[in-house]
Amino acid sequence: MEEDGYRIGEIIDLLNAESRLAAPDELIQYFAYDSRSLKEVRHTLFLALEGLRDGADFIHDAYDQGVRNFIVSQVHQERFKSLLDASFIFVENTLSALQRIASYHRQRFDIPVIGITGSNGKTIVKEWLYQLLQEDFRILRSPMSYNSQLGVALALLEIRREHQLAIIEAGVSQPNEMDSLQAMILPDIGVLTNLGHAHDEGFGSRDEKAVEKLKLFSDVKRLSLNPDYLPETVLIPPAKRLLTWGSVESSDIRFLASEQVDGGSEIRILYEGKTLSYKIPFSDPTAVENSLSCFAAMLNLDYKPEQISERMPQLQSVDMRLSLKTGINRNTLIDDSYSNDLTSMDFALNFLRQQKQHPKHAIILSDRPALGHGQQGYMDLAERVQRSSVDLFIGVGPDLSRYRDFFPAGSIFFTTTEDLVKELHHLDLKDTALLIKGARVFGFERISKSLSQQVHDTRMEVNLKAIEHNFRQYRRQVGPDTKIMAMVKALSYGSGSYEIANLLHFNQVDYLAVAYPDEGVHLRRSGIELPILVMNPDAASFDLLIEYRLEPEIYSLRELSAFGALLKTRAWSEYPVHIKLNTGMNRLGFDPEEMNELAEELKGNSLIKVKSVFSHLVASGAPQHDDFTRKQVRIFESSAAFLKDQLGYPFFRHIANTAAISRFPEARFEMVRIGIGLYGLDESSVLTLEPVVELKSSITQIHRVKRGDTVGYNRSGLVERDGSVAVVEIGYADGYDRRFGNGVGTMKIGNELVQTIGDICMDMCMVDVTNVPVAEGDEVLVMGGAVPISELSRRIGTIPYEMLTGISSRVKRIYYYD
Ligand SMILES: *Cc1c(COP(=O)(O)O)cnc(C)c1O
Repeated sequence: MEEDGYRIGEIIDLLNAESRLAAPDELIQYFAYDSRSLKEVRHTLFLALEGLRDGADFIHDAYDQGVRNFIVSQVHQERFKSLLDASFIFVENTLSALQRIASYHRQRFDIPVIGITGSNGKTIVKEWLYQLLQEDFRILRSPMSYNSQLGVALALLEIRREHQLAIIEAGVSQPNEMDSLQAMILPDIGVLTNLGHAHDEGFGSRDEKAVEKLKLFSDVKRLSLNPDYLPETVLIPPAKRLLTWGSVESSDIRFLASEQVDGGSEIRILYEGKTLSYKIPFSDPTAVENSLSCFAAMLNLDYKPEQISERMPQLQSVDMRLSLKTGINRNTLIDDSYSNDLTSMDFALNFLRQQKQHPKHAIILSDRPALGHGQQGYMDLAERVQRSSVDLFIGVGPDLSRYRDFFPAGSIFFTTTEDLVKELHHLDLKDTALLIKGARVFGFERISKSLSQQVHDTRMEVNLKAIEHNFRQYRRQVGPDTKIMAMVKALSYGSGSYEIANLLHFNQVDYLAVAYPDEGVHLRRSGIELPILVMNPDAASFDLLIEYRLEPEIYSLRELSAFGALLKTRAWSEYPVHIKLNTGMNRLGFDPEEMNELAEELKGNSLIKVKSVFSHLVASGAPQHDDFTRKQVRIFESSAAFLKDQLGYPFFRHIANTAAISRFPEARFEMVRIGIGLYGLDESSVLTLEPVVELKSSITQIHRVKRGDTVGYNRSGLVERDGSVAVVEIGYADGYDRRFGNGVGTMKIGNELVQTIGDICMDMCMVDVTNVPVAEGDEVLVMGGAVPISELSRRIGTIPYEMLTGISSRVKRIYYYD
């Protein structure tokens, strides 16, 4: 290996693969698989992954950006012959090929490698170990939470000669995934964080899950874990040194107690017969557990207990969130609190680029302590900024100021955050998407606070990563040949508009659908270029449709002729429309008896072009109506066939909504329409979907109450024992239904579930917090996550759709990606 890279010829030998080379000596230093987020092109080997979408479809895009080296599946041997100056390596499976390279690369380094797995806490333990060890080692750690088959390979490929230690995270969600991760990572030191219930879906049992995770440690020298998490029947892999931690008496590191102290917790443990204590600046039980995991791993690296205790108070929170908020100058603020490696920078720049709702993009960035003070790191950084083609770059800190010449002309630099804050309101940041990314010491909170709108405490948090995850699950389920239309009507089921559309666009959704023209106009004005179907157009808004290139649903002859008449006056032809058939819903749509007449109207009508024919299922999630559903599908299929025959040109067909995608694969046709499933609320699905929305509020006041007192209007909340009630800042005007009153609604405060007491008021409600440790100002989870929306909606006799769309617009939406 030379200058941290491989000649492409070496890679071909390693893979023993066929190839077509343009430049056999090309030096490869980077590996990429997403043409939308290339960080470098000249020394990049682009992998066309099979999978979600055939990665080969993005080769031209990567080529246009300057990439000249590709690994593709053998099936494409004949495909890219016209790219004469590019080199191609042909393999059976591109992911396995990458893993081979990663494994080879890993084995060239004789440095200790820590392998971390578990159900929760992997990323935090990885980051904390990094924080605890960084003064003694130059460490390569997995970027963010890169722990999949792909992520682990990419992480390992980042090991460079300067590194003295690697910390790699491995995640599995199904049986038989760990073997390949273990073979790549070959950890010397194993760390098992915990085994919770996450991802249980993929495994037959807890035992099976434990066995799978432990495979990572099949060849470690040292291992630390909490045996409490392991079912008794499961064998712990042999290691020269096993260190156990936990509450059981036999643990090597026995947890005795944790006490809340000012600014965190003090933890007492028993180790080698001695009682020790250390402090961490966090008070939640998860942090205590993660700190024990780190303590054990450090002992396994031969640190003395005193040394470890000394470093623990310096731990910093690992906030991996990228959040999106509305700013005061008609702008959007992207707050990125993630740690400072270059991968997180790439990720944030990418996210910034996705924001099409503003014409301008800007970055405020602080010095990156993780880069050191040398020039090279800042040159790499500047190259990324150049490539991202932002309109304004603002750098804060002495290092960035020193290296200002690498950055685009017109960039602005400040030595300190105070200097910037003073100038902030003189900078032109109107109508801008603004990425704010500062290392902790720079205190960039001050910047976001001074630029963001005051947020009323009640908010709806939308997890964009969960939407992306859910979308990808469906994409995989339907396969690359079926198009997907995302239903973003009613502000994406209450959760947003362009925020969701941008994300889906980035993930290559094929179509969007809204209910009314103004929803479509809003998306267009926010820069969304995807085709948009409008389901409820009315004659008064036809002009808007045309102006904004929105595609109407045509459901009646009357509408068809009115739209046609307008097209004629505007001199349009072949305007894309979608024909809606009524197959049993008896809402909008052409009836089966109208097919002849409809065909006559469409035939030879050059004003419009039928892009698709569709219908809607009335009960696709309800097994008792499956016969009816099948009948709808049959009617649809035969009517569509008739129209196709009559029209003489192709269009695509769609009838399946979320529930039908899983329950009626035969109804997917050329496109499916996903709504509720994107939000993780598909009860028919076998997929592991993630919840997306959390409605949160806070406690404004706490009262002591006595048995016999009443709470709220009409005295309907009778107190049955002495205790306390807390006032929560959410009411029916926010969309918290009145039917949740008097114990029907459950909320979560800290780790405790609490019930409402008394009627729900317009802007507030009360919950019973007797014997629950709470304080005024505490956050309250009102719905979502641990308080499932589907369960809550059942309790008040409604459906998740109504709950989501009922959350009022005065509740601020906050988007995050973690
Ligand atoms: C809302 C809607 C959908 C989406 O339904 P889900 O059950 O949320 O997937 C599909 N098609 C039409 C016509 C709709 O109006």
